Amino acid sequence: VPVQPFDIVIFGATGDLAQGKLLPALFHRWCDGQIPAESRIVAAARDAMSAEEFRALTAARVAPDGTVAERREAFAKFARLIDYVAVDVSDGGSGWGELEAALAGGESKIRLFYLALPPSLYGPVCGAIAKHGLRTASSRIVLEKPIGHDFHSAREINRRVGEVFPEDSIFRIDHYLGKETVQNLLILRFANFLFEPLWNANGIDHVQITVAETVGAGRRASYYDTAGALRDMVQNHLLQLMCLVAMEPPSSLDADPVRTEKLKVLRALKPVTQESVARSVVRGQYRGGVIEGEPVPGYSEELGAKSRTETFVALRAEIGNWRWAGVPFYLRTGKRMAERRSEIIVQFKQVPHDVVAADHGRPHPNRLVIRLQPDEGVKLMLMTKDPGPGGVRLRYVPLNLSFAETFTKDYPDAYERLLMAVVRGNLALFMRGDEVEAAWRWTDRVIAAWQDGQSELYPYAAGTDGPTQAALLLERDGREWFDGFDT
Ligand code: NAP
Repeated sequence: VPVQPFDIVIFGATGDLAQGKLLPALFHRWCDGQIPAESRIVAAARDAMSAEEFRALTAARVAPDGTVAERREAFAKFARLIDYVAVDVSDGGSGWGELEAALAGGESKIRLFYLALPPSLYGPVCGAIAKHGLRTASSRIVLEKPIGHDFHSAREINRRVGEVFPEDSIFRIDHYLGKETVQNLLILRFANFLFEPLWNANGIDHVQITVAETVGAGRRASYYDTAGALRDMVQNHLLQLMCLVAMEPPSSLDADPVRTEKLKVLRALKPVTQESVARSVVRGQYRGGVIEGEPVPGYSEELGAKSRTETFVALRAEIGNWRWAGVPFYLRTGKRMAERRSEIIVQFKQVPHDVVAADHGRPHPNRLVIRLQPDEGVKLMLMTKDPGPGGVRLRYVPLNLSFAETFTKDYPDAYERLLMAVVRGNLALFMRGDEVEAAWRWTDRVIAAWQDGQSELYPYAAGTDGPTQAALLLERDGREWFDGFDT
């Protein structure tokens, strides 16, 4: 489908997200011929600089000296689309007249406002967009996580943004939803007959969702310390992935049917109590250790202060509905873990009866492994007969759908796909306001239980799988965490 010409205003254009993800994504889509020539990119931040200086700053990041000449030349051509305006978006801030001038003549194009800014500025920036008459009929706004730091602040952001932009023009990004394998999960579930009859408490033993990072809090430590792993990762990415696994079949893959089904899952999450949190949620914080042969400091050394913020969380959630009664969803995420790995693992039930003698091997339960990082792929683990003479021996083998091998064509990364979805007005990959609020309601209760109960914070060495208590959480249920993809 041809993309319509658009103007995109990136607020916070000098920041990490804009420089590291958004501008490279726009550049790559431009290289693929997906950005119409009449489109413009208006970069905005507080620093005073010329468009030329901003382009040079971005070139140094996206196509620096030393990258192949073609890339640098292509970037120089792409950079002609970029303008820069110094704007202070805080209440009463300056530069809006200049922004208005930069956008002049673009009223008939799609207009996108991308807020790569601290969330405390989402309300003020929307107020200023309205005050200066910059919102056109076809304007859309993109919000980054975190949408607030709890239910009330999220609701306030949604309210203030909603005063200026109708809900169907608000794109709340969760970049995990832009991943090819995540979208493929819905197709696997709903475009195959095979899975859905088993996709419930009768057929599935449990689900594991792991998002493990090797990076530490690093330069973000002072922000991270106000959030922690539950707010930073579980409230958004992990709960969104859980929703896609657990949702009922939507009537179509259009935005509202999908988002309504995800919302129902969040609302069906069993409420937590102080007692259940103490039993079912493990908090950890990394100490110094070794990652990929390199010594790395502990969290408090990075932060420069002692802290009770968790950098790891593992929890057991339950969805209180007919489909999932009694099926645990184990979620875990952490920084400074042994390897960078994001996976969804759906463990099916054990067969009811062994047909081969025990000394020929025990059947393992089928397992669907959906890998998001470091590479994307899907594997279905099956029992087969070990080939060859000598009688029946069982072997657990993957039916492998590796994206890199199966689809030789390059496919765009999550930010590229999501940005183009915004341009096309496709909301299905973005969170609706009520979903964000429902997720906060649940995580707020966990946080409240921690605060009331002076919860334990278990140390773990950097470069490990987190505190042993996370393993015990599953062991108590007679289960274990899987290294899904490499089994
Ligand atoms: P960052 O590196 O601190 O950048 C913030 C940007 O906002 C800078 O360009 C800054 O430029 C600008 N800014 C700050 N105050 C401003 C004001 N009053 N008026 C105008 N511009 C202002 O932050 P970031 O890491 O890019 O993150 C941006 C947002 O994306 C945050 O909400 C973050 O949580 C979210 N996010 C980031 C990542 C990531 O990979 N970095 C991933 C997911 C979500 P000046 O100071 O020069 O004005």
